[in-house]
Amino acid sequence: MPSRGRSLVPTVAKRRYFIETFGCQMNVNDSEKAAGLLEAEGLERVESAGGADVIFVNTCAVRERAAEKLFHAVGRYKTLKSQNPALKIAVGGCVAQLQGKEIMERAPAVDVLVGTHNLRDLPRLLGESAESGDRRSALDREADAFGIPADVVSHSSRTRAYVTVVEGCNHVCSFCVVPRTRGKEVCRSPESIVHEVRSLLDRGYHEVMLLGQTVNAYRFGNVDFPDLLRQVHDADERLWRLRFTTSHPEHVDEKFARCFGELPRLAPYLHLPVQSGADGILADMRRGYTAGEYLEKLALLRSHRTDLALTADVIVGYPGETDEDFDATCRLVREANYDGLFVFLYSPRPGTTAIRRPDDVPEAEKKRRFKVLNEQQQRQQRLRHQNYLGRVEEVLIEDIADGEAKGRTPHFRLVHFDAPSGPNVAPGARVDVEVTEAFPNSLRGRFVERVRERDPRQ
Ligand code: SF4
Repeated sequence: MPSRGRSLVPTVAKRRYFIETFGCQMNVNDSEKAAGLLEAEGLERVESAGGADVIFVNTCAVRERAAEKLFHAVGRYKTLKSQNPALKIAVGGCVAQLQGKEIMERAPAVDVLVGTHNLRDLPRLLGESAESGDRRSALDREADAFGIPADVVSHSSRTRAYVTVVEGCNHVCSFCVVPRTRGKEVCRSPESIVHEVRSLLDRGYHEVMLLGQTVNAYRFGNVDFPDLLRQVHDADERLWRLRFTTSHPEHVDEKFARCFGELPRLAPYLHLPVQSGADGILADMRRGYTAGEYLEKLALLRSHRTDLALTADVIVGYPGETDEDFDATCRLVREANYDGLFVFLYSPRPGTTAIRRPDDVPEAEKKRRFKVLNEQQQRQQRLRHQNYLGRVEEVLIEDIADGEAKGRTPHFRLVHFDAPSGPNVAPGARVDVEVTEAFPNSLRGRFVERVRERDPRQ
């Protein structure tokens, strides 16, 4: 989508861009959109900031010291301006939305600022800044977040394409800044989503991941998330694997769980953050469920798909978390028997309600809890992975380097194997691999054969 304002192209022929992305898949997808917008203006991607005429830093406010990371990044990049005075530095994402004024004050090297709903303005603002030498910003959270056409997106993976279906979040978790940076939920129409998925299949993708901060809260008219899953699933046989993230336990019900039993191309994998196993902490976090209710949801899901792989996020050291609270979390994690766990140390974030609570768990104790929980989970995962020894798994190859291939199973397990040479074994191909070694976080295997069925074009 060429910008409607001044173009970047006339200022310098064949300019190049570099993008640094912090954060989750939603941010990765936003960076893919930014890349597509810049490429539509004739810019070429480069893999290092040193060769770039435009640097876009896509920030995340969820992780610790987000603003400091941004200022460090800009500090590194501003030295490049002495070698290339035409270099433009742009900042987007949640930190730009939340702390735009501070960024403009503290980082004079930043030329352009785009908020979470203003990505489409990036080329125009860069062009205006290049022409005038002034700084430009757009931080209008009421703008249309879905205003970038799907065919503009420059996907970073050759096997998995992201499709954002919901922007924003209506929940009010005490530790999370997303509702302030991304605003209330806005859902795309199912027709536009199915159209985008079909166009991705036309471009050779076989795996699609639907994205939203709370993706399973999706509702457009009377189409809810399970309805959307069915529509996308049934849209085209070239879709091998349908995934989605991130889900909230509140929107897990019988209709949602049934999808895992009834839709064969829906990958048997769900990331369902729990955050804590202690009811008092969950209530303080305003998560909207108890530990018991969360475990009932897991049981419901597994009753429809016994082999469903489950992963979760947990925060340790939340304000007021006692030893008993932490023990409750360890118990829940054992009982849930997750396939993977992402443990985070609590730290106060600007713009959240939890920042008003005293951050009273000492740092050393947070780190101890982090270690204990991770070690427990690693033991669980090692045991789970032992069960895969000798099994043949279908792997969708994501990358091959120096004869070593890596890819994911439908359950999202990472598998490495020696790739035989030949044109048929390449990123995007589905192959059978026999598992020969099991590690806590990955498997290793032996190539068996290429999988050919269900792809009408092969
Ligand atoms: S559900 Fe909670 S943690 Fe997730 S994006 Fe919304 S407010 Fe943040």
